[in-house]
Amino acid sequence: MTNLSAFDPATAASLARELTRQREGLEMIPSENFVSEAVLEALGSIATNKYSEGYPGKRYYGGCEFIDEIESLAIARAKQLFGAEHINVQPLSGAPANVAVYSALLSPGDKILGMDLSHGGHLTHGHPVTYMAKIYDFIRYKTTTDGRIDYDNLHAMAIEHKPKMILAGYSAYSREIEYEKVKAIADEVGAITMADIAHIAGLIAAGEMHNPVPLFDVVTTTTHKTLRGPRGGMIICKEIHKKAIDKAVFPGLQGGPHENVIAAKAVAFKEALEPSFKEYAKQIKANAKILEKELASRGYRLMFGGTDNHLLLIDVTPKGVTGAQAEKALDLAGITVNKNMIPDDPRSPMDPSGIRLGTPAITTRGMEEEEMKKIAGWIDEAIMNASDATKLRQIREEVKGMTGRFPLYPNLMY
Ligand SMILES: *Cc1c(COP(=O)(O)O)cnc(C)c1O
Repeated sequence: MTNLSAFDPATAASLARELTRQREGLEMIPSENFVSEAVLEALGSIATNKYSEGYPGKRYYGGCEFIDEIESLAIARAKQLFGAEHINVQPLSGAPANVAVYSALLSPGDKILGMDLSHGGHLTHGHPVTYMAKIYDFIRYKTTTDGRIDYDNLHAMAIEHKPKMILAGYSAYSREIEYEKVKAIADEVGAITMADIAHIAGLIAAGEMHNPVPLFDVVTTTTHKTLRGPRGGMIICKEIHKKAIDKAVFPGLQGGPHENVIAAKAVAFKEALEPSFKEYAKQIKANAKILEKELASRGYRLMFGGTDNHLLLIDVTPKGVTGAQAEKALDLAGITVNKNMIPDDPRSPMDPSGIRLGTPAITTRGMEEEEMKKIAGWIDEAIMNASDATKLRQIREEVKGMTGRFPLYPNLMY
């Protein structure tokens, strides 16, 4: 990338430092991943130059014939991946995809029954700090004390509140979801069903988790988490909602689609259709299970009793640290995680009781059982020595030694 480094050495140098950080550390934030070089190439392509408001075959700009090919390819592949009737690949990210669905299918003031944020739900599912919470009336269901979704409570709340929509989907919940139960409850009260599979889309595409697409009215997702594509969003829906969804995305909320991102989505979907992606998804889950076992055996309190997917939510307070302290210690040790609320957390979002960690990115790098065991040991050591800078630096060196054996973008340079 000599053009970049010659013209803008400051930006190039920051990118170079970020590349080194990604190469040397253990990326364990469960919403992150490493895209392939093919995805990067499409993302950085000349498709970024083109305006193409509208949809394939129905654009408001000339010269869209090749852009139409790209977007149609992305749609066809995504349909195949999820067994979908209709797909809109234009949402700029996960949050705008959710907003588009609300605006397509609801009126201001309508009730949405979604999961409580501290029980694993997402900000865009009606957290009071969001603008959406001013427009719609969000009601929250929770998990049981043993950490499963409380379907009886969900049923009772649906009967009591008669929501227009029931929303299933989470960013810090580690268990399988019984979509048939949610659908049966929704049918009983006449609610629209929406699933937000932002975190687990890759696992679902690979057949490694239940797929809500055949059952639910609408399914939203990001494309950059387990699906391992570019940063972006997508809406999957039944044919009957197609018109409303497409109109809500454009012209309802967005202008010109980012066709370079859509090109990168097409590439990522092709990758996800390969048999090797199924192996990848299986390994993500296997790695999370090993971490679960290793950390539980060291006395860690795993929320929801463990994991069926790619992530673990852990209460670290019994170990004498807060979530923020654990995040900081792990950062210094070269292990990137994020602090996170646990169900009904008595602490605050900026310094909660838990940390959330996941295996998608380290699995992309090729790490397996042996590495997971080492990583669990380092996590424990770092948390137990959270204020010992020398110890944390020593772990960081060991981490660097291991990540060096799993090359990341070996030919990339800024
Ligand atoms: C990540 C996530 C989103 C938001 O995606 P962005 O791309 O960050 O806007 C929405 N819903 C869930 C469940 C998520 O995990």
